[in-house]
Amino acid sequence: MTEQEAVTENIEAEEPRIGAFICECGVNIGGAVDCQAVADYISTLPNVTTAVVNKYTCSDAGQAEIKNAIKELDLNRVLVASCTPKTHEPIFRACVEEAGLNPYLFEFVNIREHCSWIHMWEKEDATHKAKELVRMGVARAAKLEPLQSSEVPVTNKALVIGAGVTGMQAALDIGDMGFQVYLVEQGPSIGGKMAQLDKTFPTNDCSICILGPKMVEVARNPNIEIMSYSEVVEVDGYVGNFKVKVKHKPRYLNIEDCSGCGLCTEKCPIEVPYTEFNEGIGTRKAIYVPFPQAVPLRALVDKSVCIDCGACIKACERGAIDMEQEETFSELDVGVIIVAAGYDVYDPEPKHEYGFGLYDNVITTMEFERLINASGPTMGKVVRPSDVQPPKRIGFVQCVGSRDKNSNIYCSSFCCMASLKNAQLIKEKYPDTEVYIMYMDMRTPFRMYEEFYNRARDSGIKFIRGKPAEVTEDENKNIIARVEDTLTGEIVNLELDLMVLSVGAVSPESTETIRQILKVSRAADGFMMEAHPKLKPVDTTLDGIFIGGMTQGPKDIPYSISQGSACAARATRFLAQGKALTEGITVKVDEDICVDCGVCVPMCPFQALSLEDGKLNILSALCKGCGTCAVACPTGALQQSHFKNDQLLAQVKNVFAYGEV
Ligand code: SF4
Repeated sequence: MTEQEAVTENIEAEEPRIGAFICECGVNIGGAVDCQAVADYISTLPNVTTAVVNKYTCSDAGQAEIKNAIKELDLNRVLVASCTPKTHEPIFRACVEEAGLNPYLFEFVNIREHCSWIHMWEKEDATHKAKELVRMGVARAAKLEPLQSSEVPVTNKALVIGAGVTGMQAALDIGDMGFQVYLVEQGPSIGGKMAQLDKTFPTNDCSICILGPKMVEVARNPNIEIMSYSEVVEVDGYVGNFKVKVKHKPRYLNIEDCSGCGLCTEKCPIEVPYTEFNEGIGTRKAIYVPFPQAVPLRALVDKSVCIDCGACIKACERGAIDMEQEETFSELDVGVIIVAAGYDVYDPEPKHEYGFGLYDNVITTMEFERLINASGPTMGKVVRPSDVQPPKRIGFVQCVGSRDKNSNIYCSSFCCMASLKNAQLIKEKYPDTEVYIMYMDMRTPFRMYEEFYNRARDSGIKFIRGKPAEVTEDENKNIIARVEDTLTGEIVNLELDLMVLSVGAVSPESTETIRQILKVSRAADGFMMEAHPKLKPVDTTLDGIFIGGMTQGPKDIPYSISQGSACAARATRFLAQGKALTEGITVKVDEDICVDCGVCVPMCPFQALSLEDGKLNILSALCKGCGTCAVACPTGALQQSHFKNDQLLAQVKNVFAYGEV
């Protein structure tokens, strides 16, 4: 008999001695529930040794009372009736463990969200309900069994998916802490969308001037291996032991041999009327370097337009070009994964919002960023697309694809500041230009942002509180925006030379693919979901997998960088310790009943089950104790520990134990 089996047998052989602790949570619970009446009632139930009321059970004093009671009254089960197990169960499990009790002999009853908060004005009924909830908890607590977590070793390498500013920050922090990082980027260069921006608010630094050194720092860091033009296609395993398959797309040249000299580009006869980096504006060749500061500064061939003339091959003195190159794959072993896969800008074209896609002189913020950028296709000269003339009247329309029940109801958070910045840049560069911002609310919540807004107002930019109800184009390709200023009630027909749509952020399709590969939850807005919106903003519900930056939701650059560092800090806890604890609550199979039919195998969302040589195999380290397989099993051979049938039935039977409550 193992030590664990001996402990389990001893506990099971003992009569349950339950200590119940009823928390008032100040007035959160105590204001609606007569906690003393609940404790008095609970103390009359079988197996209950003590039942007491605490002001705040999670406080040091409350936890000390639990520990003392375990020792002095020889308790072998503890029940706390308070708030939500999502935040407080780990605290109480650790508390009982410190007092020498197995942490799984702890039962949590939620009498706040499930009772006091929803019956705030019905004290008598709320107290009655609390007694019933706690009685059910007592019945289950008596059936609890000790469980053991296990330790798994952690491979001390990290994978960061996405090399925008968030992913780069995460990789740098982990690399600087001495751990190896694989930085996988689906595009041909690291840098992300920040590399495309002109200036950055609120200080108006040149974006690439502050990002470029960081890109170089990433490339120089000996602990970071950049895998550009690559995609994660498979992930197996669990915290500490992930096996990752990465696809490397062919650039049609050997990256080690190419020097990025650009001779091939000069000689290429194919001019493509589209540039990815310049948001479609301008042209590039069939063989091209993505942008002058790209890292790695290497070319790639667009095979969809290449005519195989061989001019680039002849031009390349280093023999780097390999038109026969095919995609290759790498297999990586990593202990932790950070997803910082960025965002897409909202596309107003399908619905021709505000005339976008119909009228030449309606453009998006990202197109404007490339137009005003000195390294952009017009060398920083702002012109209107229809006649390449400088616009004299420019209007910015806020909340396109954000805060709109017809597209996305969330606020994209950076677009107000982006338009304030671009409007100010226009005023600095072309002081005679009339600039309008059409908005619902200006949102400028962080440090120096409100001052930035005030500067914009002082610079002569005109603010109209309202969004265009109708947009048309006249014979000169000017845009006529009909908008009501809701502050004055006046309806204005603005004649504009150029209208810029301040498009919001959406989660890209490629991120959805990664999300499904990793099995991370998705929030209603389409972005990946964090484990807790306040307490665990970069964790996921999967141990060892973290999300940061736009992957977790819209945010600006400083917030994204902070999240990159936060991901790195959370992830390196595992790398530094070299081990991770797995969940004690897992599924167990009764081999006498299991017929190895395999019905449960595809049900498991974590791939913890498999049929090996016709026998069911459970990889406990992968099991998250969700119970999906146990429900699917046609013979009842699978039981989820901590939620076994007798434990749940004890609770259910007590729903109906009407009596002297
Ligand atoms: S082979 Fe293709 S990429 Fe190379 S120069 Fe000719 S068209 Fe351009």
